[in-house]
Amino acid sequence: MGDLTKDFDRSEFACRCGCGYDAIDLTFVEKLQVVRDISGAALYINSGCRCVKYNAEVGGVPHSSHLRGLAADISTRDGELRFKVLDAAFKVGFKRIGIGSSFVHLDIDSELPFPRLWTY
Ligand SMILES: [Zn+2]
Repeated sequence: MGDLTKDFDRSEFACRCGCGYDAIDLTFVEKLQVVRDISGAALYINSGCRCVKYNAEVGGVPHSSHLRGLAADISTRDGELRFKVLDAAFKVGFKRIGIGSSFVHLDIDSELPFPRLWTY
């Protein structure tokens, strides 16, 4: 049970440096909840909100959507889960998607160009 949506809790999106920054966008989380519902898979958030310092530490781009609480990296341990997350993300209408070897990035940042699909 989450305090934001059925399955997501605000703490899951807090900056991993421990600074307490957790201003994740609720519209974004609601879209993520639909991804979760469609995929039927429990989704682990690797990285949600990031403060400027932490974003730099993990090599995030300077204008990253993580800084504005509009993004999450979802852990995808294998190809089946990666497929399910991507399939659901397209169905939900995500227009900015990044594919890493062990995660999928989703964001709804209207300040950044879309549609975009990239790899890391
Ligand atoms: Zn931080």
